[in-house]
Amino acid sequence: MAQQTSTLLPEVKAHYGDLKNFIGGKWVASTATEWLDDTNPATGQVIARVPLSPKEDVSAAVASAREAWEEWRETPPISRGRYFFALRDLMEEHFEELARIVSQDHGKIIDEARGEVRRAIENVEVAAGIPSLMMGYNLEDGAASGIDEEVLYQPLGVFAGISPFNFPAMVQYWFWPYAVATGNCWVAKPSEQDPLVQARLFELIEKAGFPPGVVNLVHGAKEAVEAVCDHPDIRGVSFVGSTPIAKLVYARAASHGKRVQCGGGAKNLLVVLPDAKLDKIVPNMISSVYGTAGERCLAGSMVVGLGEAHDPVRRKFSDAASKLKVGYGLDETIQMGPVITKKHQERVMGYIDSGEEQGATVALDGRRVKVSGYEHGYFVGPTVLDRVTEDMTVAKEEIFGPVASFLEMGSLEEAIEWINKSPFGNAASIYTSSGKAARDFRYKVRAGSIGINLGIAAAMAYFPFGGMKNSFFGDLHPQGRDAIRFFTESKVVITRWV
Ligand code: NAD
Repeated sequence: MAQQTSTLLPEVKAHYGDLKNFIGGKWVASTATEWLDDTNPATGQVIARVPLSPKEDVSAAVASAREAWEEWRETPPISRGRYFFALRDLMEEHFEELARIVSQDHGKIIDEARGEVRRAIENVEVAAGIPSLMMGYNLEDGAASGIDEEVLYQPLGVFAGISPFNFPAMVQYWFWPYAVATGNCWVAKPSEQDPLVQARLFELIEKAGFPPGVVNLVHGAKEAVEAVCDHPDIRGVSFVGSTPIAKLVYARAASHGKRVQCGGGAKNLLVVLPDAKLDKIVPNMISSVYGTAGERCLAGSMVVGLGEAHDPVRRKFSDAASKLKVGYGLDETIQMGPVITKKHQERVMGYIDSGEEQGATVALDGRRVKVSGYEHGYFVGPTVLDRVTEDMTVAKEEIFGPVASFLEMGSLEEAIEWINKSPFGNAASIYTSSGKAARDFRYKVRAGSIGINLGIAAAMAYFPFGGMKNSFFGDLHPQGRDAIRFFTESKVVITRWV
């Protein structure tokens, strides 16, 4: 389906060695006894070894963060913001390098990797404006005549962030710039499946001059996450990942009285009305379903063409999907990369098998994709399942791969009811020329991100990012004003002027 061409960009490094933790401003070897091989999903080659850090490493990071906090919380917000300006400049300087590391380690195509790094930078830019973001409010005579009342926002101490594999650069940046800009200290635990870009970003954090202990990095998996949930000096946890782990982390961290925000999995519907402009919307739908090989929590996973819209949209969509060029994301001509691991490749293929076994028609089959020169890569080609019904596994579970399931429905009400019945509530999109239909959809659908003629409704850094139902556990979402509130506690001061 695709071959290697001379448009292949160079890898930053062929091998990144044994990864270290960054604790108290120093790169330190983990005390782990277990290590994982980190592979390049396009080639299947090992490109680094990741320590599965034990709880002692988490404790060391928390101790250094706790110690740094005393001074950091007294550092004026405008001075804290300056570290973020310095970091932003370094991220711009190393922009292309960061994007290439993402593409090599995660597998997404280079343009998507660039987009992800851009989103991380935007969060740094927003957090740099912390003096105005963090302001409280007040009211003269608010309590009684001559008695004024005000609200202050104060940092809590040490927070930790646990992120998934699918946005290895960006998701940590939904959290930590806001946590640290508001005066807290931070422990990051990136995904063990593609940790390389965070390792490089921490070198830039070090260069930006953040005081030792303010921002720490611990590599690992289950044991490190459990240690984060249980540690008495961690005041709050930000998590994004699959729903089962989000639920575990939410329950475990909350049982210790911590603040918790946990993003979970998704199953997003794209609804196409007969009045939608197919030529304009199909390319957008393709990028929603197959962007990042479908490994996006906002990805369209199911497509409903209402009534007479079904056949033309399915035909045009399948035709466009069949033309996507699959291969190594560092090749600039490639339009879709591999999935993250061999295990995940098998899982996605298993879902396609189950769809077929349960009666769906495989209108486009990605199971037999071959990428010449990359026989050891974890590729799944673009897949379209037609005649999917509501009871099939592919209609109910998150696949997290390049698979579109087409369902037939008769009315918008039916589609909205179906979305609202789903245990997930991350995103939903409508394609239509009718303002009334779009407004009804926006008004009634229970999902955190709504797209109107747009298949990926990803909030910018100054808006909150989050879902509903099993797609989010907690009250305040990452990014934007919600993040400022999550990472601070409000204190009321009432002054009687005597
Ligand atoms: P995952 O749940 O397997 O892993 C997420 C994090 O949890 C990782 O850091 C991992 O080390 C840790 N972890 C894994 N197993 C654990 C366990 N048993 N105990 C404690 N910690 C554990 O998720 P993933 O496969 O890395 O990421 C994909 C998932 O993330 C998808 O379900 C996707 O929808 C979701 N996601 C959601 C959002 C959102 O905003 N809601 C955004 C991106 C991704």
